[in-house]
Amino acid sequence: MNVHRPIKTAEDLVDAGLVEPSQHGAVSRVAERYAVAISPAIARLIDRNDPNDPIARQFVPDAAELTLLPEEREDPIGDKAHSPVTGIVHRYPDRVLLKAVHVCPVYCRFCFRREMVGPQGLGTLTPTELDAAIAYIAAHEEIWEVILTGGDPLVLSPRRLGEIMERLKPIAHVKIVRFHTRVPVVEPERVNADLIAALKAGGKATYVALHANHPRELTQDARDASARLIDAGIVMVSQSVLLKGVNDDADVLASLMRAFVETRIKPYYLHHPDLAPGTSHFRLSIEEGQALVASLRGRVSGLCQPAYILDIPGGHGKAVISAASIAAEGGGCYTVTDFRGEEHIYPPKI
Ligand code: SF4
Repeated sequence: MNVHRPIKTAEDLVDAGLVEPSQHGAVSRVAERYAVAISPAIARLIDRNDPNDPIARQFVPDAAELTLLPEEREDPIGDKAHSPVTGIVHRYPDRVLLKAVHVCPVYCRFCFRREMVGPQGLGTLTPTELDAAIAYIAAHEEIWEVILTGGDPLVLSPRRLGEIMERLKPIAHVKIVRFHTRVPVVEPERVNADLIAALKAGGKATYVALHANHPRELTQDARDASARLIDAGIVMVSQSVLLKGVNDDADVLASLMRAFVETRIKPYYLHHPDLAPGTSHFRLSIEEGQALVASLRGRVSGLCQPAYILDIPGGHGKAVISAASIAAEGGGCYTVTDFRGEEHIYPPKI
């Protein structure tokens, strides 16, 4: 088995022992529809003896992806509704997404942009499109933060990333540049001195949001790659997706959040899975998600608490959807629920 090059086809998956030969046809049909890529680091992480391996579940195509439900959408979080120019999504007043590239080193089977990413996706911005996107950012003084996402922006060469950062440098109202990436986990060797220099080339405060969903993804190599970024002055936060069969378990979720904090990555977002096409086998109910998030409160440090978030379909932005721990009782009184689930009146009765 060759785990030194990316796995990209149904044949590669069979050769790597990740798909049974009997499943080749179904997996080929999935691969025709949605991009497939598994990096060598992820291929090595998969336990081939575990039919329910949580790493395989995130990256190995499944025939269940051919099942489409009526509520699923091509553009589940409504990027298109807020895209004034190609490559820019301006949903909130003070920040924009800059989607410079729609390629990733791995393709997650639950991806919310699965209709846009991959070899048949929206590709990389042309020089003219990038000019227009930068001009849009420069012309809108309310833009305080630019978030490079995609796709995975860290697949761009350090030279290309450095150029983008140099072009953001003179835009004084942009104070923060954030990158959303899986690279420190899935291609940790890519995080080298050239990449780090490129990320810092804009002279802005630089944040990296690392996408990981299971504690096993935080390997020593991933932790070392993250440490190289953090030691260079880059702030790291996490983002994870709550996924059935991957991390819908209180112990797994607690271990994941602790692994982030041990790596000096502050847990930031825990996303409820989006209504992306062919992903119903990953979705759990909001009640199940709320119970899991509440279980974190009782068992792990405050540093390990992410915000449980739903991207409202149609492009209406994010909402925090954890169960409320406070309810008004009238007369200026509230019932407050503690981390054990016990209720208390506030202010306490004298
Ligand atoms: S890395 Fe992000 S954009 Fe790429 S496939 Fe995974 S979820 Fe989608």
